[in-house]
Amino acid sequence: MHSYPDASTVARAFAPDQPVILNRPHAAARAARFFAEKFPGKSMYAVKANPSPDLLQVLWDSGITHFDVASIAEVRLVRSLLADATLCFMHPVKTRNAVAEAYHQHGVRTFSLDSHEELAKIVEATAAEDGTPASDLNLLVRLRVSSEYSEYSLASKFGVDLADAAPLLQATRQHCDALGIAFHVGSQAMTPFAYVQALERVRAAIAEAAVTVDIVDVGGGFPSSYPGMEPPPLEDFFALIARHFEALPISYSAELWCEPGRALCAEYSSLIVKVEKRRGDELYINDGSYGSLFDAAHIDWRFPVMALEDDLTQPLAEFSFYGPTCDDGDFMKGPFMLPADIQAGDYIEIGMIGAYGAAMKTGFNGFGEAIAVTVEDEPMASLYTGRADHRVSDNVVTLR
Ligand SMILES: *Cc1c(COP(=O)(O)O)cnc(C)c1O
Repeated sequence: MHSYPDASTVARAFAPDQPVILNRPHAAARAARFFAEKFPGKSMYAVKANPSPDLLQVLWDSGITHFDVASIAEVRLVRSLLADATLCFMHPVKTRNAVAEAYHQHGVRTFSLDSHEELAKIVEATAAEDGTPASDLNLLVRLRVSSEYSEYSLASKFGVDLADAAPLLQATRQHCDALGIAFHVGSQAMTPFAYVQALERVRAAIAEAAVTVDIVDVGGGFPSSYPGMEPPPLEDFFALIARHFEALPISYSAELWCEPGRALCAEYSSLIVKVEKRRGDELYINDGSYGSLFDAAHIDWRFPVMALEDDLTQPLAEFSFYGPTCDDGDFMKGPFMLPADIQAGDYIEIGMIGAYGAAMKTGFNGFGEAIAVTVEDEPMASLYTGRADHRVSDNVVTLR
């Protein structure tokens, strides 16, 4: 596929009226290799963060062999693209038909659950036609943990409470080959302590249930870098997770898994938008909450921005954005820092939209079409180009 050096080149070449998604396969490949090499266990990609087939292929080619899927459509998609991938169905509430199709037709052996009803459903849907139960299931009980250290909570909807975990773990143990405990600390966890606290809850659950646990899955939540949200290095997360995993009362052969979504794909994409109108410090742009900028509108996520015009000379000022639809709610508060003399007709690059950006696009109000091209420059921020603290940089060779 033809690729371009950077966003400015694309804006000049196309003068596009529609938003343009810029993909950086090299950035996704770097993130995947980082997790594959440095996470002290198995990394599975949470497909919902960005199900783009091109991205899935890049991750596979860079060492990601396991995929966290949450719907039968995601199961079919990944299976159709990557015949040898291991798929793990990690949505704790599935339909019976989805479980049956995943198990019998797509080779899925790993399922998560957080209730006795879901356990019964999985056991029934995976049994043979003559009623013989499956003997090769990996079942992970999803434990509710706190989201207090994360920018986006995932604490309310799923997960069995610690107080109710023991009977569910004991019942699940009766029906599986490998028993696991999974959790999710919330998305964009800003400190590794989020995982430490969750692993303490795992310890309590294991002690209470007195069952043999074969898999501990620390879920997603690994952060990326955004304005005002610069996390510590991922190595620090990995080191603390490894230390607390090893101290759990589990068998020597127990496996450690994680399910990164955002961290594997945030750097993959950015977006070129055009300013259609300026009203004071509000810019009307051609993408918004129904397009790739859902999080900017709904949870005031601040993505990095950069004007793509050479002739803007004034210092940066704070702007908010309106998207293209007629909905008043299609508004992104920001603040987004852009040259004070930016005006209608100018192009802006919005960075770090590879996770939960392109994946959320709708066609509402007739907007939503976008061109996608490949670019070669670096993402606006990266957690994979060396540690911020250069005293401990692993890009530096120390001579002894
Ligand atoms: C969304 C999700 C993930 C990925 O979360 P990130 O914060 O993007 O890393 C992982 N596991 C499960 C079960 C999820 O629902």
